[in-house]
Amino acid sequence: MAKVSVLSQNPAAVNCGIVTGGERSLIIDSGPCPTVASHLLHRAQALSTELVGSPHPVEAVITHDHWDHFFGNGTLAAAGVEIFYTSQSFAADQEATSWIALDGVRNAPENAEFAEELPEDPSALIVEVSPVDGSPGEVGEIDLGDCRVEFHVLGGHSTADLVVRLPDLGIVFTGDLVEEGASPQAGNDASLSEWVRSLRTVLAFPEATVFIPGHGVPVDREFVERQLEDIDGLRMNQADAEVALPARTMPGDYDRTLPREITIAGS
Ligand SMILES: [Zn+2]
Repeated sequence: MAKVSVLSQNPAAVNCGIVTGGERSLIIDSGPCPTVASHLLHRAQALSTELVGSPHPVEAVITHDHWDHFFGNGTLAAAGVEIFYTSQSFAADQEATSWIALDGVRNAPENAEFAEELPEDPSALIVEVSPVDGSPGEVGEIDLGDCRVEFHVLGGHSTADLVVRLPDLGIVFTGDLVEEGASPQAGNDASLSEWVRSLRTVLAFPEATVFIPGHGVPVDREFVERQLEDIDGLRMNQADAEVALPARTMPGDYDRTLPREITIAGS
């Protein structure tokens, strides 16, 4: 039985996943900085040791090219992670994205606390990647050992959003196509019409009941449907510059302390 964990950490309160299969482990998003990436790898090894008695080989997948989701890549690669699944778009733009994003993040005053641990040289963020075929109808598939994983390249929040589907467990890691507790971020690289299409695709996974957003607590189908309506509403109202996407929260009590680690499947 596979185990699925979600680790939420600062900076950026980003959600990263660890899927522990019978033979391999998968880290979903390497996080915003070396400290977070090292913690993810350490936990991935500890979780597989608990499950099968020794640490698994670890692979990684990156949901999109925003800094808080991939700045840990270089740290994982230096520690021995050899396979990084990404979209073709991530692969093509990795170098330029790393240069631009690192400069912005290192120089933003609000990041002073952790900027020091980021490399000065953007090439330290760049890793060899294994792009997933993103042509329509194509799905990347791997098996972690009694645990099938699908990669669907969609888009809308960024130029390419890669969604990680665990079809046997009813779980989907959506990256920032879904955001809980704060407004979804529609930046310059967003396409609202594509975003709407992507959320419809995700909702069409018949088995999916738990959706892990890029930030916030896990959400259900109703939450994703509501966020789809919000984004579709903004799409039809774009002339109105005052319109923004609302922040939605899951009803109920959730542990929102940071850092936190929760188990979504497996014990
Ligand atoms: Zn994010």
